[in-house]
Order: sequence, then C-alpha cells, then structure tokens
Amino acid sequence: MKRYEPPAGWTVQAYRFALEPSDAQVLGLRRNTGAARFVYNHMLRRVSAVKAQRAAEASYGVAEADLTPWQGWSLPDLRRTWNEIKVWVAPWWAECSKEAFNTGLANLSAALGNWHASRTGARKGRRMGWPRAKKKHGRRSARFTTGAIRVDPSYRHVVLPRLGRIRSHESTRKLARRVRAGTATILSATVTETAGRWFCSFQVAVGRTVGRRPAHAPKAGRVVGVDAGITHLAVLSTGEMVPNPAPFKAALRKLGKAQRRAARRIGPYDPEARRKRTASNRWQRAQDAVARLHATVSAVRADSWHQLTTRLAQQFTTVVVEDLHVAGMVRNRKLARSLTDAAPATLRRHLGYKTGWYGSTLYVADRWYPSSKTCSACQTVKPKLSLAERMFHCTSCGLSLDRDVNSARNLAALVRHVDLELPGDAKTGRGAYVRPVRPASAGGAAGREASRPVHPVNVARQRTTANHESRLLTER
Ligand SMILES: [Zn+2]
Repeated sequence: MKRYEPPAGWTVQAYRFALEPSDAQVLGLRRNTGAARFVYNHMLRRVSAVKAQRAAEASYGVAEADLTPWQGWSLPDLRRTWNEIKVWVAPWWAECSKEAFNTGLANLSAALGNWHASRTGARKGRRMGWPRAKKKHGRRSARFTTGAIRVDPSYRHVVLPRLGRIRSHESTRKLARRVRAGTATILSATVTETAGRWFCSFQVAVGRTVGRRPAHAPKAGRVVGVDAGITHLAVLSTGEMVPNPAPFKAALRKLGKAQRRAARRIGPYDPEARRKRTASNRWQRAQDAVARLHATVSAVRADSWHQLTTRLAQQFTTVVVEDLHVAGMVRNRKLARSLTDAAPATLRRHLGYKTGWYGSTLYVADRWYPSSKTCSACQTVKPKLSLAERMFHCTSCGLSLDRDVNSARNLAALVRHVDLELPGDAKTGRGAYVRPVRPASAGGAAGREASRPVHPVNVARQRTTANHESRLLTER
C-alpha cells in the first residue's frame, strides 16, 4: 500500500476527542484493544520461543541449515505468521477489526526493532530490553489506519471501522469543517482508554495558512521571555504572573485525600507479612478514583498550557524559553514537583509548533545560561541564589525584583541581542546563549514522523471532566 504523502507545507497534528460510547460500544472498544494486546503477547511469546529453541539447538551442535526456522519480526513477517495461525490460536479473530491485530503486530515489530537497534548500537539512549508482555489492566489502545475513519457531519460523532458511529463528548466541528473544506486529511485514528474514559485521537495532515496572526489577537509586544514557574504556571518578562488555575489546585487537594483513602484499604501487598495478597474491591475502587483525579489534574494543567502558549504565539513576534534541563534537573532535586516537572518541555513543545502557525519565532536559551542569577538591569551575575529566595536583590545596582520576572526578563534580553546584532553581543557573548527553533512542516521532520502517531497535543495520559476542558485539549 502506498503511503499517503501530504502536500508540501502541510503539517501533521492530532485532533483528540473524548468519546461517549454506549455500553455495547465499550465492549467493542475493549474487544478490539484487547485483540491488539493479545496478538502482541502471543507473537512475542512465539518470537521468544523460536529464539530460545534455536539457541538450544545450536548448543547441541545442530547445523545452521537444520535449525528451527527463524521467526522474522518485520511487520510483513509477523503478519504472515499471524494470518497462518490465527484460526487456531484466536478462533474469535473475525469479531475484531484487522486493524486491531495490525496495531499489536506493528507495536511488537517496533519494540523488537528497537531492542535490536539498541543492542547493535544503531539506537542511541538508554539500552532497550527484550519487550515485555502487555498487562491486561494496562493502557488500552488500538490504531485504525484504513477503512471508514471520519468525523460525522453532525459534529457530534466519530466513525470508526467495525466500531461504527460513536458519540463524541465534544463537538468535532473544528476538524469536520477542515476536512470538508479540503484543508485536512485524516491519516489515522487511535482509540485509547484513560482512567475509565475513552478517547479518539485523529492524526491529521493539515494545510494551514502558516504565519498568519489571527485578526482577533491583539499585538502585545515584540519579545517575551517565559519562565516556567513553580508557584505560578508561568512568569513573563512583561511582569505578568500567570497563576495556576483554580481547578488545578482543587484537584490537587482532592488527589491528596483520595491517595490517603486508598492507602488505608487492603492493597495487593501486605506490609506486615511482607508478601502479596489479594487486593480488596474497595482498594481497587479507591485506586480508580485516584487515577481519575490524576487524569483531571493533568487535563486541567494541559488546558492552561494551551491557553497560555496560544496567546503567547499569537501576541508576540518572538518568544524565548529556557532549555529543558535548567528547570527539569536543577530544581527537581529540591522540590517534589512530579506534576509540574513537564512544564518546560510542554512549554517548548507547544510553542514550537504554535509559533510556526502564527508567524512568530521561538528561541530556546542555552541550559547553561544563568537566567535566574543574572541581574536583568546591570547584568551582574550572582555567585549563588538559593531557591528559597523568591526576590532577586542586586548588590551592584540595587534592583529588587521577583526572581522569576528577573529570569524572564533575562531570557527576553538574550534575543534582543541576536535580533538587533548589537555590538555588545560579541562583548558579552550573550547571543551565543540562544538559538531559534525552526518549526517543521509535513515535508520535513514532521512528514517523516507521519508513520507513527504524532501528538502535538501531548494529552496521551489525560482525561477531561468538563466539556470546555476537552474542547481546549484538542487543537484550535
Ligand atoms: Zn544589578
């Protein structure tokens, strides 16, 4: 099958909708996602068994040609074998979409490929182990790449192969109108269950008028520096402190309570006897409640990030952010911020594509640039600044400023040097601390990534509670 090539300049993005499936449809979703898991585990066992068998035979001195035939792990190889054996190992196969099986096989092929590439040194990063079986109660998902995949003209339903028309929790208008106007093509649809809720994420190639500032967006300024905050969602060089949303704080409080409640229930581990035991139903219910709250917290936060990053990309010509590790590593050791850890990465990812959409530029400051310790007025660098000091006091010029605003101002100042090519640039070397991020189009990096799900909106593990939240989670 020839792969779809989006027209030049089109970008790939996700449109994600919370679903409201009927009870019968939930069964269908579970059946298909379960089939993806089943085929993954079955074929993994088969590949493992063949590998072990051949190793054993070789150790007895069996000739190479007489070894048990190798089970290839390319997708066509896995598919060929599966189609030969499915009648025996999964007599119920016809009840599920072939795409469900393809999901499992493609994932397995990728996992084994990663393992091999890691072992042979072709893959960078942490060493990949041999793939492990998918757990029954893990994250359920299946991806559909062919057949009837569309959003219903009613704006309130999505249509998927074998599963039919499923009601969506929110309006699909944004996507449906683009498809009708011919400026979007749906590449695939992935259904996922998160904390008891089903979502459908469409991978879509979109042709948009890149670089157009929406008429409704007032121009607030040329350059803005953004500091991903701890007490605040973000602090801007304009002095604006964007607060964490109120629902986020409320959800956090509830989460603490739910976790304490779950801890009192009979869990799967007996700390006194130091062994496993059967968890109670009440423990399971308490766990489910915790999972739902986690999903709410991250959905609320993701929504706030989207509102902020859209506003920044639309209202400013240039946006400057820190590199990931400054905030991620240095602060993390001292502050337990599991919920906000992703903030700098999220900020950068969102701004990376949104600045492309709205014709602004994103700059990323080097991770070694001391944005917090430098005085934004006289450039004196403090040798030390403890995290407890919320105010920045400069001993040279007497500047007294909120530490995050100071940091954001420094970020904004970096790019002024680059933009204007000030003579001071060479002297201070500050321009070297910052680099622009070029947004990728579908023909470039994003195009190459089109073969796997691309989620510009990183909402893979989030659940929405209210309509406005999930609406905002999807792309505008
Ligand atoms: Zn100063």
